[in-house]
Amino acid sequence: AVPLVVAKSTAQSAKNGLLIKNRTAFENARKITTLVFDKTGTLTVGKFEVSKVVSYQSGLDELAILRFASALEQNSEHPIATGIIQKVKDLNIDIPKTKNFNAITGKGVEADVEGQHIKVVSPGYLKENKLNLPIEPDTDKASTVVFVLLDEMPIGYIALADTVRPESADAIRTLHDHHIKSILLTGDNKEVAASVASKLNMDSFFAEVLPHQKLEKIKELQKTGEYVAMTGDGVNDAPALAQADVGIAVGSGSDIAAETAGIVLVNSNPKDVANLILFGKATYRKMI
Ligand code: ADP
Ligand code: MG
Repeated sequence: AVPLVVAKSTAQSAKNGLLIKNRTAFENARKITTLVFDKTGTLTVGKFEVSKVVSYQSGLDELAILRFASALEQNSEHPIATGIIQKVKDLNIDIPKTKNFNAITGKGVEADVEGQHIKVVSPGYLKENKLNLPIEPDTDKASTVVFVLLDEMPIGYIALADTVRPESADAIRTLHDHHIKSILLTGDNKEVAASVASKLNMDSFFAEVLPHQKLEKIKELQKTGEYVAMTGDGVNDAPALAQADVGIAVGSGSDIAAETAGIVLVNSNPKDVANLILFGKATYRKMI
């Protein structure tokens, strides 16, 4: 049987934007010593807007770079894809069809467009494949940059900006006050991760983390004796959510993430996670 205080508390939580899917997750929330946050859509709003487009090719203008990228991105559900498609729609550019679309997990997308092989990839992909740029991107440190490749040759880049949620700083501060560490884990590049982590005063960050590495990071933290909660929204985050002592899915994210996690953040508000932990502590104090 569910103790009455717990039943009441989980009902109360639902009102406060939390869906508790199993009671163990709620019971365990009060033991959390480290909270690992996925960046996009959790600490940030998750809406990317194109802030800059640059072409490296004299024969191609910025619109052509966007057009190629949008062809690939119409097949993707990543927030970066949504941002690029929105820009192309605003500019009334036609989106060409693609063949052989493929998602390169955690690194980008590729497809054939008008007989040419195009990729849109992360800075990590360039490093890994030792691809050189004619000029380093000149962008704000907080922006996410993706590169457009034609047959493995960089032909341009697109910079996108996302916004930190106004509630995030407050959430991290509350956790700090209760001696709970906060760690940022993201597939995005180091500059963006560093910028968000420092803006929010987080304890540490890990950038350019591939989906399978997210799970490994959780395991590493657990080995050092931390009781770890993980929040995430993507399909990519599901294994890490399952590995964490408490998995918290962000409501606006994928169904797979929500199925794996014990708790769902209905309003995608990081402040609700901090409240959950405090609430868990208070509930079990009441029972003793
Ligand atoms: P996160 O959810 O932390 O952003 P992902 O694994 O989803 O991590 O993505 C990691 C990186 O891979 C992105 O920052 C981007 O550089 C690249 N990437 C992933 N999907 C796409 C896409 N559809 N278009 C362009 N780049 C992408
Ligand atoms: Mg994600």
